[in-house]
Amino acid sequence: MEIYNISDAKKFMNNKKTVFVTGVTGQDGSHMVDYLLKNTDYTIFGGARRLSIKNHENIKHLETNSRFQLINFDLSDAHSISKTIEQIKPDYFINLAAQTFVGSSWDFPTQTWECNTTGVIHILEAIRQHKPSCRFYNAGSSEEYGNVAYTPQDENHPAKPRSPYGASKSAARQLVKVYRESYNLYAIQGLLFNHEGTRRGEEFVTRKITKAVARIKQALINFKTFDAVELGNVNTKRDWSDAEDFVDGIWRMLNQEEYRADLKNLPTGRLLLPGEIAKTDQQGLVGKIREYVLSSNETHTIKEFVELAFKHAGINGGWHGQGTVEEFSLVAKDVEKYEAVSSVLVKINPKFYRPAEVDLLWGNSNLVRKDLQWSPKTSFEQLVEKMVKNDLSLLGLTV
Ligand code: GDP
Repeated sequence: MEIYNISDAKKFMNNKKTVFVTGVTGQDGSHMVDYLLKNTDYTIFGGARRLSIKNHENIKHLETNSRFQLINFDLSDAHSISKTIEQIKPDYFINLAAQTFVGSSWDFPTQTWECNTTGVIHILEAIRQHKPSCRFYNAGSSEEYGNVAYTPQDENHPAKPRSPYGASKSAARQLVKVYRESYNLYAIQGLLFNHEGTRRGEEFVTRKITKAVARIKQALINFKTFDAVELGNVNTKRDWSDAEDFVDGIWRMLNQEEYRADLKNLPTGRLLLPGEIAKTDQQGLVGKIREYVLSSNETHTIKEFVELAFKHAGINGGWHGQGTVEEFSLVAKDVEKYEAVSSVLVKINPKFYRPAEVDLLWGNSNLVRKDLQWSPKTSFEQLVEKMVKNDLSLLGLTV
């Protein structure tokens, strides 16, 4: 797929509004682009590092779309960010690029901070200088809650991060707030609980499980031996949703006046310039926009995910043992059916334990459901089923 330098961007611009989305080779970025192409007539620029587009599976289908252009962009380079915003002057800037994997953040704490926090300062500064009316969204995470104080977690829950990743996102939230309040920027950071799907990377537990289920199913139906999938702590709980539902929530957060009754009758719907802030603080749109939680409002253990994933592949298993000797293995009927030599489907490997764990995440997204009429369309069970079916079909299998 062709990637352009920022100096070429002008030739793709027309009289339509522009949206710049970072992290477009990733799960959320690619879904965001698909959503915007479907629901707006805007021109979409996708930021990606030239190197990362080797891994462009998630945007391959956009290759011939004339409303989408890939731009060489690096969050670690303040100069390139500033030049990008100066040239394109986007109406929206949606930052979905990040070092997103919590587990790696202990191994790469500085890189995590540079990308997730310092990168955000670069964007905020460039927006302030070159396009203060640009609406900015930064990806926030339930990992900011960390060692949770109460359950379920809503917008008022304090930040108690447990990983370098959680700390980096928590600091970014404070920066976004400071810029919003100091310069009257429409700059927000949503509070997104775990969101998954068929474009999820294998470093996350959900996709690791569904890929393994497909691999094991393939072995079983061919009466071959297989290796069990090795997991870490399977007793933690997460609030999982479908990433496709969340990009809709992000777009609503960026266009709150279209949904919220209390914003509809403001004297001005337009954004304010820095000089106007003090005078209109009580009336302006920016002073009233909110950051929302997106979540399914349910929580499930990793174990439950495992059970459902195997079930949707037509494989029946059960848990035995405790702690590091716990296993999920085929029921006797299936051992017989598949003439299985080994019955162990999942085993525990402490190598996948984290130095500090977030035991429970459970969101309360009632506010966004009321204010912006957002709600998730895909249930937890439908999400697991969709991911398993996708991984089975990638191997040419059906249930
Ligand atoms: P996170 O919530 O953003 O950290 O998403 P992950 O999918 O990476 O992890 C979700 C939970 O699954 C965490 O509590 C992990 O400790 C737990 N987990 C258990 N085994 C594994 C594993 O093998 N890989 C990953 N990524 N997580 C695992």
